[in-house]
Amino acid sequence: MRKTALITGASRGIGRACAVAFANAGYDLHLNCIHSAESLTALAGELEASYHISCRTHIGDIGDFAFAEKMFAQISHLDVLINNAGISHIGLLQDMTPEEWGRVMLTNLTSSFYTCKCAIPIMLAQGHGRILNVSSIWGNAGGSTEVAYSAAKGGLNAFTKALAKELAPSNIQVNAAAFGVIDTDMNNCFSPEEKKALQEEIPAGRMGTPEEAAALLLQLAQSPDYLTGQIITMDGGFL
Ligand code: NAD
Repeated sequence: MRKTALITGASRGIGRACAVAFANAGYDLHLNCIHSAESLTALAGELEASYHISCRTHIGDIGDFAFAEKMFAQISHLDVLINNAGISHIGLLQDMTPEEWGRVMLTNLTSSFYTCKCAIPIMLAQGHGRILNVSSIWGNAGGSTEVAYSAAKGGLNAFTKALAKELAPSNIQVNAAAFGVIDTDMNNCFSPEEKKALQEEIPAGRMGTPEEAAALLLQLAQSPDYLTGQIITMDGGFL
């Protein structure tokens, strides 16, 4: 049987690059995003034609448990779950509304509880599985004007370590990739000048590419079974 991966937030950025990398590696795919039905459907068609894999799309809010359950009702086999969907929120904490805080938490942290809750019974029945959480260096270090995002990603790191302990006896590995600045639409909130200043702070002298992020996630999906509970940082030497 061919391997199957589910990637949340796959319409663009790191999730999209992941979809290409996993399709190229021969995985059948389930791809999710919240709004961009047209671009996700087009991507699925391209991947099926280019890599001769099967690719199903699931449009909906992964921060909604009813949607997660509906999506998983259509998934019977799953080797790799990639919790990639995420949103940023830049601003001072005292200016943030409770609704904005809730949205950041739901999308970046609680959604991984929802997908894992649905995926674990499938993986237990198979006797194997990989869960990869897409985190951030701000979850390790904390970022000014990104308090909620940092708290959510820091929570995701602890979630990763704790769940890895819970699932290691069942041969399910749980790891996270904590990325530095990756060149995606998520960083379009920064002006060209701000992006230039940011790049000057990164020892590698540039942002990472979504393809580099995807390559790390594919490597983690194929790493030895003994690697679990780890937060692997990839940031061009930034922190
Ligand atoms: P992006 O904004 O380019 O793409 C985000 C994707 O998530 C989109 O496909 C969007 O549809 C999807 N999404 C957002 N909310 C969703 C929801 N509620 N339900 C389902 N899908 C939803 O972002 P990106 O830069 O590719 O980020 C992907 C992941 O990488 C995020 O978790 C982000 O926090 C993390 N990350 C990004 C960077 C960076 O610098 N770009 C750095 C570290 C970590």
